[in-house]
Amino acid sequence: MSSQQKPLLEMIGIDKAFGRQTVLKNCSLSVRRGETVVLIGPSGSGKSTLLRCVNMLSPADSGDVFFANQNVSRGDVPPHQLRQRIGMVFQNYELFAHLTAAENIMLAPMTVLGVNRIEARKQAEALLAKVRIHDKADHFPDELSGGQQQRVAIARALAMKPELMLYDEPTSALDPEMIREVLEVMAELSAEGMTSMVVTHEMGFARRAANHILFMEEGEILERATAQDFFTGLVSERAKRFLDQIL
Ligand code: ADP
Ligand code: MG
Repeated sequence: MSSQQKPLLEMIGIDKAFGRQTVLKNCSLSVRRGETVVLIGPSGSGKSTLLRCVNMLSPADSGDVFFANQNVSRGDVPPHQLRQRIGMVFQNYELFAHLTAAENIMLAPMTVLGVNRIEARKQAEALLAKVRIHDKADHFPDELSGGQQQRVAIARALAMKPELMLYDEPTSALDPEMIREVLEVMAELSAEGMTSMVVTHEMGFARRAANHILFMEEGEILERATAQDFFTGLVSERAKRFLDQIL
């Protein structure tokens, strides 16, 4: 297999406990370049923890995480470097409140990559246009709607030109009318080939953007299906019951 065909991300036999509570049990998955994988499952099933194992925010106890052919769980890539290459978007945006939208986006390119202010500003404006809020560059987070803040957060992650994007329930804090505008941007990025791993229960997004869907319960990946199989009902009864609850 050439390196081009190898998955960008491969997790093999991931286990993780917090104290005496086992949170991930022998989880394995792979994400190929250009693919979007959606992760669903009940609250507390370990979705966020699994995502956080990818970029070492919450390292696995055992098992291997390969990213771009390097074993990150064995320390091949220092965590700070990994986080430069993997963008993450959280439920609560986590923008810097004292910085404008543009400044939020400019910060990492300037401080980490050494991009100059003029170039960083230009890039921030282009990214704000991409997430469809070109007119909000000089607004502070508290002057933006939740949906706009989340799109700034996406633009901020994109500013580092990540090879992989991780989204952890990016729309679950948003009002319904704002969910769509965020999902639109995410679906567009996926369509352009941004490799993505998305925890979401927005099945409309999954239908539109996902190549594969994983179903987790109690720390285990119980199901891995292509989006097509998933939506034509070729899934376990357990996954179907879960879907019935959220749809
Ligand atoms: P999900 O994202 O699917 O809701 P999580 O990965 O957040 O699930 O959590 C899985 C389990 O691990 C839950 O029981 C949660 O309480 C526990 N957990 C998550 N993070 C921590 C932590 N930092 N310390 C202790 N327990 C945690
Ligand atoms: Mg979670």
